[in-house]
Amino acid sequence: MKINILHAGYCTAPEHIAIHGGRWRKIHFPAMFALIRHPRFGAMLFDTGYSHRFFDETKKIPARFYRWVTPVTLREEELAVNQLSTFNLKPSDISHIFISHFHADHITALGDFPRARFVYMPHAFSTLRNQTPLEDVRHAFLRGLIPADFDSRSQTVNMSAPIFLSEEYAPFKTGYDLLGDESIIGVELPGHAHGQMGLFVRDESGKLFFLVADAAWLKQSIVENRPPHPITNLLFPEPETYRGTLSDLHTHHLTHPKTIIVPSHCEETIRALL
Ligand SMILES: [Zn+2]
Repeated sequence: MKINILHAGYCTAPEHIAIHGGRWRKIHFPAMFALIRHPRFGAMLFDTGYSHRFFDETKKIPARFYRWVTPVTLREEELAVNQLSTFNLKPSDISHIFISHFHADHITALGDFPRARFVYMPHAFSTLRNQTPLEDVRHAFLRGLIPADFDSRSQTVNMSAPIFLSEEYAPFKTGYDLLGDESIIGVELPGHAHGQMGLFVRDESGKLFFLVADAAWLKQSIVENRPPHPITNLLFPEPETYRGTLSDLHTHHLTHPKTIIVPSHCEETIRALL
């Protein structure tokens, strides 16, 4: 498999929110997505980054609040659909999109890929389905980003059939074989959002990537086992669980230093992989 770590747009926020004890200055949080090219299943994405739909969906209050808290910059050429041409791909070539969780910066471009199957943990979406508009804002969920045919194209992870993971993935013990050939393994990374899913994927040169979405905002958090500012407890559905997930990532980092851990918004990590 070929794996490319890309991003579409970024938002800014103070560093000390993202990591406890961080600096007060504002830093960039790129909205990462990954292109995964599989010899049999073709081209697939992990998340999508921002698209212009983000601005359409945040024009009015209360969703406008989202833009005030995290101002977004997006250049046309960064859109996932536009970056595909670099790889000789069209939007209709994308066979699957693995959705880590349903925060706007991960799903705004879902509607740009007409043939993709949407793969995600069932409770990542079922908990959002019947929320009120105000709860949507609280959970950073922009309902208008969900394509009209979303349900018919969804292929939720079968959580009744976990696989047991070898020591290579420790301390993560169970995962989900997302394509049936053990090439892409989904792992639940709870705490930041219900049913958040990370991926273990290996490229053709044997490098193991661990795409961990928002289980940590910065690689430094994983290296130092240092959580975000306590104020973020108000944003996370399960702050205690978030800490447990972060410390599992820290353990994996210490015991498996060769794994390339990719938090979705860590500029340093994403730049290094470009
Ligand atoms: Zn998120």
